[in-house]
Amino acid sequence: MIWQNHIIIGASFAAVIDPVLVPVGVIGATAPDWLEWIIKPLYPSLRHRGATHVVLYWIAAIVLFVLIDYHRIGLAFAIGGFSHVFADSLTISGVPFTPWSDARFHLFGGKLRTGNGGEYIAAGMVAVLCFGFVLYSPVKIGTAAEKENGFIPFFYDWKGS
Ligand SMILES: [Zn+2]
Repeated sequence: MIWQNHIIIGASFAAVIDPVLVPVGVIGATAPDWLEWIIKPLYPSLRHRGATHVVLYWIAAIVLFVLIDYHRIGLAFAIGGFSHVFADSLTISGVPFTPWSDARFHLFGGKLRTGNGGEYIAAGMVAVLCFGFVLYSPVKIGTAAEKENGFIPFFYDWKGS
C-alpha cells in the first residue's frame, strides 16, 4: 500500500484514541517501512515486508503500551504500526503473521494491488468507519477524566482544556 493511504488509515486509528495523537499515529503508520530502511544496512538479509511487518509484533507492542505508556504516545505509535500491517494484509503480497512462518497473512481476501484505486477506497472506508465509531460508539476510549466530560475526540473542546 502507498504511504498516503497508510497515513489516512493510521491517522483514523489514532483519532479513535485521541486526535492529539494523530501525528504520532502517522509516524507509526509509516514505521514498518522506514524501520526497514534503518535495519536493512545492519541486517542485509531483512526482506521487504519481513520482520518489521510481523502482525504479532505490533499486537504485542499495543499490549505493552496499554500496560506501560507515557501520555498514550507509545500506544498511538503501535496502533499506527498495526494499522500499516493491517492495511498491507489487504494487498496481494500480504504480511507475515508470526516471525516463525513464511505464510502470508491476508484480510478480506487480500485482493488489493499496491497503488491501485482499491486501496484508496479501503483507506476511505477505514476513515469513515473510525469517524462513525467515534461519533456513535457507546464505548468511549480515553482517560477517566475525559470520559467524565463526555469526551468525543472529533468534537474536542480545544480551548477548554
Ligand atoms: Zn509496508
